[in-house]
Amino acid sequence: MNRASFEALLKESGSAKIVAVSKSVDFPAVAALASLGQLDFGENKVQELQRKIIGLGDDFRGLKWHFIGRLQSNKINALLALRPTLWHSCESVAAAAAVDKRLEYDLPALLQINSANEASKQGVDSERAVDDYCQILESSRHLKLVGVMSIGAHTDELSVIKASFETTYKIFEKLQSKGAKICSMGMSDDWQLALKCGSNMLRLGRMMWL
Ligand SMILES: *Cc1c(COP(=O)(O)O)cnc(C)c1O
Repeated sequence: MNRASFEALLKESGSAKIVAVSKSVDFPAVAALASLGQLDFGENKVQELQRKIIGLGDDFRGLKWHFIGRLQSNKINALLALRPTLWHSCESVAAAAAVDKRLEYDLPALLQINSANEASKQGVDSERAVDDYCQILESSRHLKLVGVMSIGAHTDELSVIKASFETTYKIFEKLQSKGAKICSMGMSDDWQLALKCGSNMLRLGRMMWL
């Protein structure tokens, strides 16, 4: 993405934060985007996150790394050692407890909601989301829930994707009284729709690297 298209994207996304998902690219692409001022990056695998942080080295210490993928229990310690800026994909009360138990610093996190109720997708059911969120808030010492995350319905039908974003946004609204501030939804194919539905954090992969 060149400077002009990056600036156009910033303008269109307004106050929503952009997380550039770098799982499909290597160091030079990350460095090029960072040189345009992009500081927030996301990865969905712990090992790749580790490789990127080490490989980019001291010159890129200022980058903020988001973890957005499924977290296997045998990778928890490795992830925590990397001190991610935000864990987007806390998928259950049990996953929250497993991470909290190992935490020795405060880690901001989002509860992932399976708002399209897809069997293949991780996250809590939308009907349980508010209760689960409150339970995690109450039982965690160092894990700090600060909002919700969702992946739009896996379909070409805009109305179905929109409904899944609206479901997530309604849950987010209910949780604002509990301190929820971040609603992470929208990827390369559906970010404009997500913005209209109230997203304030976009996770953009493919489109950032064109
Ligand atoms: C890969 C990924 C993205 C970015 O997807 P694109 O379609 O490439 O924009 C966003 N969120 C999650 C959880 C991902 O795994």
